Amino acid sequence: MNVLIIEDEVGLAEAVAAILRSERYQTDIANDGQTGLKMALTGEYDCILLDIMLPGMNGLDVLSYLRVKEIETPVLLLTARSETDDKIKGLDCGADDYLTKPFSMGELLARIRAMTRRRGIVQDINPKYGDITLDLKKGEIICGNSSVALGSQITTKEQFVSKIWGSNDESEYNNVEVYISFLRKKLNMLRSSVQIKTRRGIGYCLDGAK
Ligand code: CA
Repeated sequence: MNVLIIEDEVGLAEAVAAILRSERYQTDIANDGQTGLKMALTGEYDCILLDIMLPGMNGLDVLSYLRVKEIETPVLLLTARSETDDKIKGLDCGADDYLTKPFSMGELLARIRAMTRRRGIVQDINPKYGDITLDLKKGEIICGNSSVALGSQITTKEQFVSKIWGSNDESEYNNVEVYISFLRKKLNMLRSSVQIKTRRGIGYCLDGAK
C-alpha cells in the first residue's frame, strides 16, 4: 500500500514514514500543501495522511481541491487538539477520519487499516499464487513447509515502470533484472511450481498456478 504523508513537521513526518515502512507500506512525504496536492493529484496513493496547518496551502484546501478533482483517495486528517472546528470542516470536505496529535503509532496504524478497509482497498497481507504465499509482514515467501526470506531490498514502482516502459538509466534497468533473478533462485530453492516469466517488451508475470 502506498501512503502519502503531507505534514510540515519534518520530524513527525519522518517518524510516521519509518513506522509505516516497518509495516511494509510504501511512503512519500510532502512538507507543504502545494507539493502534497500535486503528489496526491497523481492518484497513485491508497491513503493520504493530511495535516491541517500547512505552509502555502492548508490541509482543508488541499482536501477540497482533491475531492473537486474527483480524487477519492481515503484521507486521514492529522489535527492539533485546538482545531475542533477544522475537524468538522474536514469531515464535511470529504475526509474519512481524523486523528488528534499527539497520537500513538498503534492508533495511527489501526485508523489507516480501518479507513482503507471501509473503502474496500485490499490489504491482503498474505497474497497467494499457485503453491506460494507471500508474507509481506515477515518479508518471506512460503511454499509448503519451507520459507525463504526476501531480504530488505525493495524494488520501487519507478524501477519497474522504467523497466517496462523504457528508461535511459542502464543501472536501474540492470537492478530490476538482478532482483528478478534473486527471486527466481528463491522460488527454485523452495521447489515451487511457480515461475517468473519474462514477457519481452512488456514485463514479468507469474506462471504455474494449479
Ligand atoms: Ca502543521
